[in-house]
Amino acid sequence: MSNFDYDLIVVGAGSGGTRTARISASYGAKVLVVEGDRAGGTCVLRGCVPKKLLVYASQFSEQVSDAEGFCWQVNNFKSNWHELIIKKNKELDRLHEIYVNLIKNSGCDLISGWGKITGPNTVSITKENNETIQLSSEKIMIAVGGESSFPSFDGNNHMINSDNALDLIKLPNSIAIYGSGYIAVEFAGIFNGFGVDTHLIFRADMALRGFDNDIRQHLMTSMKQKGITIHNEVTISKIEEEEKINKIKLSNGKNIVVETVMGATGRKPKVFNLGLDEIGVDLGKRGEILVNNLNQTNINSIFAIGDVTDKITLTPVAIAEGHAFADREFGKINRYISYSNVPSAVFSQPSIAVVGFTFEDAINNGIKAREYKSEFRALKNTISGNLERTIMKLIVDENSQKVIGAHMIGPDSAEIIQGIAIAIKAGALKSDFDSTIGIHPSAAEEFVTMRS
Ligand code: NDP
Repeated sequence: MSNFDYDLIVVGAGSGGTRTARISASYGAKVLVVEGDRAGGTCVLRGCVPKKLLVYASQFSEQVSDAEGFCWQVNNFKSNWHELIIKKNKELDRLHEIYVNLIKNSGCDLISGWGKITGPNTVSITKENNETIQLSSEKIMIAVGGESSFPSFDGNNHMINSDNALDLIKLPNSIAIYGSGYIAVEFAGIFNGFGVDTHLIFRADMALRGFDNDIRQHLMTSMKQKGITIHNEVTISKIEEEEKINKIKLSNGKNIVVETVMGATGRKPKVFNLGLDEIGVDLGKRGEILVNNLNQTNINSIFAIGDVTDKITLTPVAIAEGHAFADREFGKINRYISYSNVPSAVFSQPSIAVVGFTFEDAINNGIKAREYKSEFRALKNTISGNLERTIMKLIVDENSQKVIGAHMIGPDSAEIIQGIAIAIKAGALKSDFDSTIGIHPSAAEEFVTMRS
């Protein structure tokens, strides 16, 4: 008989926390999930899912123009943002309910309240009515995720973050987005697709630092072609707000006047008020919880997964970490996840998906690499008159002949790269790609017909 109230308390009912709880319970563990907000977490309620719904919605403006190229007559085509947000929120309510049911139906308890770690085996939970209870557990999993973070400058409080942007009641006439990472370029595409005068402001020369340079360059060109105004190699010095109009002062002396300013300058681990300093959990420079390959902190009974650890801040990684933790700790299966060849996608317009090394990364890692590249205009974009082109790249290790990277910008890139990621994970050689018969006519077939 355990001396604790639970075998496992999971703090945070996002994608990672929920998977941890469900799988642990399936092995017979007595599990409690504590969530202060709604079950579902960032990805489902404030990130991937609502963002992708709005990406879909924003693409119809271009698709209508494609349709006209294919000789459809389109009259009086207009969007209704307000109704869209209501519909999107209804879908999120449905997903939230699914999360609650997933947790409860798997036999876990769920308490709505903010958890604070008060000792190696204790969590205090403050409920909405301010009642605080204290519960004990053999193991504690922290899966609270991250939150947006802004640089400090005069007037940064006038910026909204991506949570707010997903819930704007009214579409602004103009918006400036600060940053050029995943969130910034994705939201720039959304607002631009809805006809908002969209400005992207960032300090680098090109958006998406760390991605393949040809893909970055192509994204910059495409965003400009689609009407986004790019302000690169600048920072924001100040924002002044007057009667709902924001005047942005840039470091190059220029001013931009817009209705809304959105900050997308990165996210930080959400460790505030978790009690970690008090009990001595080791944190990194950015506040991330430091964990070993068991996702265990320096306190043996306390574990952490997902964005709060700042390893790879992607939902499927958090889910995989939580599942492997449950397998190890409660299922007696000695399983670890691999952080290599994790594919990811940026739902910019055009979209980008990547897996493995870029050519530059490979060279910097001492690999004798060779790059194969294909650039073309997709069949659909011929008659439609759409100018957008697609770029695909394979990076091959010249010594082993293994494909060690694949990169794509163009329609359906996420759908295509997911399959390529399996081949790369399995160690496929360039000759395996070459001997695979293509599916014709498709864009994906270019990955099996690339010659140097
Ligand atoms: P990113 O880390 O992707 O980008 C941050 C951006 O902010 C960069 O352009 C960076 O510039 C800029 N920046 C950072 N600090 C400053 C500063 N002090 N002053 C000016 N600019 C600054 O963060 P995001 O917020 O876009 O996204 C957070 C994470 O969420 C991503 O890394 C990703 O893991 C995840 N995510 C994944 C998505 C997906 O899978 N599709 C979608 C959305 C988010 P610089 O490049 O010069 O450093």
